[in-house]
Amino acid sequence: MTAISSDPVDSHVAVRGTAANGDKANGHAKVPGAGAKAAKACEPGDTSGQEPHRVLVVGGAYAGVAAVLTLLDGADGKLATGEPPLPRLRKRIQVTLIDERDGFFHAVGTPLAHVAQESVSALWLRYQSISRLQRDDVKIRHGRVLSVHPENLCVTFADLDDDGKYATLEYDFLILASGLARQWPAIPKANTYDEYVQDALNHISSIRSAACKTVAIIGGGAVGIEFASEIKQFHPHNRVVLIHSRDKLLSNEPLPELFQAQAEKLLVGEGVEVVLNQRANVVATDGVSIIALADGRKIEAGHVFYATSGYKPNTQLLPREAVDEEGYVVVDQHMNLTSPIANARRHYACGDICRWSGIKRAGPAMVMGRVAATNVFHQLLHSEHLEHNEPWEVVADPDSVDHFDPASLKMRSSPAVYPQVPPTMALAVGKQAIMYQPHVGVVWGSDQCAEVFGNDLGWTNSLRYLGLLN
Ligand SMILES: Cc1cc2nc3c(=O)[nH]c(=O)nc-3n(C[C@H](O)[C@H](O)[C@H](O)COP(=O)(O)OP(=O)(O)OC[C@H]3O[C@@H](n4cnc5c(N)ncnc54)[C@H](O)[C@@H]3O)c2cc1C
Repeated sequence: MTAISSDPVDSHVAVRGTAANGDKANGHAKVPGAGAKAAKACEPGDTSGQEPHRVLVVGGAYAGVAAVLTLLDGADGKLATGEPPLPRLRKRIQVTLIDERDGFFHAVGTPLAHVAQESVSALWLRYQSISRLQRDDVKIRHGRVLSVHPENLCVTFADLDDDGKYATLEYDFLILASGLARQWPAIPKANTYDEYVQDALNHISSIRSAACKTVAIIGGGAVGIEFASEIKQFHPHNRVVLIHSRDKLLSNEPLPELFQAQAEKLLVGEGVEVVLNQRANVVATDGVSIIALADGRKIEAGHVFYATSGYKPNTQLLPREAVDEEGYVVVDQHMNLTSPIANARRHYACGDICRWSGIKRAGPAMVMGRVAATNVFHQLLHSEHLEHNEPWEVVADPDSVDHFDPASLKMRSSPAVYPQVPPTMALAVGKQAIMYQPHVGVVWGSDQCAEVFGNDLGWTNSLRYLGLLN
């Protein structure tokens, strides 16, 4: 079995590498040889000689970084799940990580990053300062991928280190981890650390010096709640009003009513005014916004924050047939694309962009990243075994472990699996957190906050899970 450890951020999802159906038809028993034919526009090089295995990871946050580090573990002979451990690859692996940002941004922590001056710099980790990525077999590119060409095994991207000029990158395997597009200030709008810091400081300054000493947040989902509570906590001189159009907070989430009601209580306890069941019409004049509520009330606020904007998966870069009607990538339990695109078995996706059960969260994104990369690594090993006519057996037994017998050169493996998951959520509300897991129910308190979020909205926990804490 390929064991992938459990959900790191809030231990909500126990993920074990249970067996796939083991059927060779599922694609994991049949791997195109490493020298498979490809490419017209951007012909991949022949990988059968000394050329390295090229794995391209698009998106370097929770899912993408987890995938890269898992591949490196494999390359270092540390992706062992059985005894004796998995063999090393005969050929080198070359991992390229491309992101339009110049660092890994802790999106879970945006309500701190864009509110509390002391947190700004810590929550954007430039790739150049991640020591585990500073090695010859990792290349970091700063660019925006514009299109994926599965038939040619290459992507076109705008090179942000070269005036946005278009360029191509070739791969043997692709792992997509490009997340969701959201509106500022729910996530940064900048692509570089320096610009991000400036944007965040400007935002914080406009909260701090809001006219009428009032900040209004429109939209009572998770993002609105977390921002409202952090603003009240770090700028207590301000009146903070959260306005929501429905009769309860988190009305769009598949969560128990107790969670919704208790989240409101915690928020009110933090000193946030909660206005429910009211649509807001905002008219901005000279630094003051007049918010007209449906019931005739008016609120004057110096800073208005919209947490209503929707989000959509960053999948415009993919062929239409790779995504569902909402734009999410259709993957199987191995995080392998299932669509009829060319070379589908060389294409994986992980994290928020995937069509999957449960609420989109960072913990599952990291676990998915590890599952995808583990399976890519298996395929690389497998392709080498095929090249050398060595036996490889894909097993369905959930209790079997990945096992390489050096005497017979026989490899037994079962692909890593990410299971379907129920909706779970952990929400920070000031110094408390409220959590829901189906088997535990709704719990809240400061202990939960300390355990799940610490004092940096879960950044340290995420880095610990990824093995990036020094
Ligand atoms: C305000 C807020 C609060 C949240 N709170 C929580 C919480 O408390 N707990 C929790 O578990 N989750 C929370 N989440 C959700 C969590 O942030 C996501 O589930 C998580 O970020 C998903 O990780 P990911 O790696 O899939 O995508 P992302 O973190 O979105 O990363 C995607 C990466 O891809 C890059 N990218 C995108 N498009 C391209 C492209 N075309 N070319 C190159 N690079 C590209 C982006 O720059 C980014 O680095 C919160 C989200 C927000 C916005």
